Amino acid sequence: MLGWIDVLYYTKYSNPEPYRRLNKTEEEWKEQLTAAQYHVMREKGTEKAFRNTYCRTYDSGIYACRGCGSKLFSSSSKYKSLSGWPGFSQPIAKAAVKYAFDDSHNMSRIEAMCNVCDSHLGHVFPHGPEPAALRYCINSESIVLIAETAL
Ligand SMILES: [Zn+2]
Repeated sequence: MLGWIDVLYYTKYSNPEPYRRLNKTEEEWKEQLTAAQYHVMREKGTEKAFRNTYCRTYDSGIYACRGCGSKLFSSSSKYKSLSGWPGFSQPIAKAAVKYAFDDSHNMSRIEAMCNVCDSHLGHVFPHGPEPAALRYCINSESIVLIAETAL
């Protein structure tokens, strides 16, 4: 289980080794993604709070990256964060997510990205549910829920 210390370590020193890498040109991303997805995933945008696809979804399944299909989060780690965005307490595997310091918008935050294709997912905060106390605040535009029956 990852804790805040692990996230700080990854952010400051070295992210976990990804299972694979996917590099696309910005033209290829624009072709693949909707404008809203592109804005969030490739321009590090933030979708509207509450008015997004998975904010109140608690169906069973795996949330995968919209960019590359990598598995990112299990529905078993999703909880009611009340923030207006999907909240997860843990990634599905340590190597699924990479981290970077983000000082934009006059805030000090840690950005969460897909470790395979570098798409922006959202941010991680140290005030999630116990025992790990992590909150992965993730944009719905960056993820797609694959239903348990389809796995
Ligand atoms: Zn990805």
